[in-house]
Amino acid sequence: MRQPLTLALTKGRILQETLPLLAKAGIEPLEDIHSSRKLIFATSRDDIQLVVIRGTDVPTYVRHGAADLGVVGKDILLEHGAEGLYEPLDLGIARCRLMTAGPVGWAPSGARVRVATKFVNIARRHFAAQGVHADVIKLYGAMELAPMMNLADLIVDIVDTGNTLRANGMEPIDEIACISSRLIVNKASMRGHYRVIQDITSRLAQAAAGG
Ligand code: AMP
Repeated sequence: MRQPLTLALTKGRILQETLPLLAKAGIEPLEDIHSSRKLIFATSRDDIQLVVIRGTDVPTYVRHGAADLGVVGKDILLEHGAEGLYEPLDLGIARCRLMTAGPVGWAPSGARVRVATKFVNIARRHFAAQGVHADVIKLYGAMELAPMMNLADLIVDIVDTGNTLRANGMEPIDEIACISSRLIVNKASMRGHYRVIQDITSRLAQAAAGG
């Protein structure tokens, strides 16, 4: 039999919302992904297998052709670039907003602003476009802590309900982008497996549209 196509999924919150869509599209893992420590899963379609990895690794696998397709947040694509990838479908899941945020009532006091974020490229572009001189500090988690500890004035982070910001005395300021998860496809895979990838894409599009 031919080697199955590989669909790389982002683990965590996005995975939880992706699996029901895949099921609606007729692609179901043959074992419970959540309770397994495996990384590769056969599915109800013998021409498709799943791998479950970190979001930041999904475009890397797909760009290099180690995976043919992927599901990843738009935030990752904006931060790390989408060169070498097709992005044929907005799955409309894991919706959130990428925002600047600061301590409640914060107002700029000088020409420069210190910004803590894991989205350093997005933050640099955003403040440059506003003509603001930003010193961007890379963090890997708990961005809300940075203003409290006087490491930064503002943060750039993902906001869903806003509860995390509120719980830490912060408020959203500017919306940078609306985020949702996207289907991405390796360009050579799209040429070589056009029919099956079109089939997967249209089934997922139908599932995402509530069909
Ligand atoms: P909230 O308190 O509901 O505003 O959620 C904010 C935190 O949840 C953020 O710091 C993110 O790390 C995480 N989060 C919320 N929605 C998403 C999403 N769609 N994708 C990734 N992380 C998210």
